[in-house]
Amino acid sequence: MGGIIKTADWQEMTTALEASPLGPLLNNIVRSHRPLQKAGSVPANIPFLAEVPFDKFGIAVATTSGQVYRSGDADVPFSIQSISKVFTLAMALQGDPAGRLWSRVLREPSGTAFNSLVQLEVEHGVPRNPFINAGALVVTDHLMEGTPDAAKQLLRFLTAEAGSSGPFINEEAASSELLGSNRNLALAHFLKDFGNLKQTAQSVVQNYVRQCSIMMTCVELAQAGLFLAREGRGRLGRILSPSDAKRIGSIMLTCGMYDAAGEFAYRVGLPGKSGVGGGILVIVPGVCSICVWSPRLDAKGNSLAGTAALADLSDRTGWSVF
Ligand code: GLN
Repeated sequence: MGGIIKTADWQEMTTALEASPLGPLLNNIVRSHRPLQKAGSVPANIPFLAEVPFDKFGIAVATTSGQVYRSGDADVPFSIQSISKVFTLAMALQGDPAGRLWSRVLREPSGTAFNSLVQLEVEHGVPRNPFINAGALVVTDHLMEGTPDAAKQLLRFLTAEAGSSGPFINEEAASSELLGSNRNLALAHFLKDFGNLKQTAQSVVQNYVRQCSIMMTCVELAQAGLFLAREGRGRLGRILSPSDAKRIGSIMLTCGMYDAAGEFAYRVGLPGKSGVGGGILVIVPGVCSICVWSPRLDAKGNSLAGTAALADLSDRTGWSVF
């Protein structure tokens, strides 16, 4: 019964979306939220990100009925960073019907920074969730068992789902990030020491950093994430079961913004995943997938203006899972 009511609600929201002037609303969001001055920060260990102009701001909405709306710098490629973790998790679940991955990584919010070492030591090398760095390293190791170049596999997945040949691995940015990856290497060595990494620490971190260095636009990311709003149905066919798509959405809601997941759920009310490149991917189940990008970050590593814009958009459209 509950399910029937929910479906009707989503249908109503989709219909309302088609009738609503979403284009002008997105233009208005860009005008209101594009930063006028350099607030926030960029990560110190990724030199490439410091060079991105602070006033870049883009937003794109891809709907389940096939429309794409965009505004601002929605067609400018940026570094997807940890947004990659949503897609590597989807790929890992795809090839793992028995759920072997879940004996190696949990599904609990961490309440700590995305690259924290402390919890991993205390909890004997089992990361709290797949969206903190330690968890993503385990997912990468799991993928590398089947395909040694998991980053290339991810690129193929993203290219197919975005319906664009635009995405590419910025190998130069990856090499420079690798030089500043002491923390990720430390996490990988911890995992290895606890028996939770099969490949070498160095090879897993190298592959993980290349995944993070994939360049995509807001439009491409919104399109690539659409299968999560469509109960696991991708552009070219089913990617995940409806249950697994629901589960990824749940982990995005509880863990996608690290130790700001509660605050983001309070302000936006939607499952989201951020990256330190300033992008945030958000899912409105049954309705659309949204990607916003603004490079400057808050203290937790999430886009400052991007979060504010999504809170505004959710308030003005009524899009929320609550
Ligand atoms: N490549 C970044 C890192 O590992 C990704 C972190 C992020 O986007 N939150 O530190």
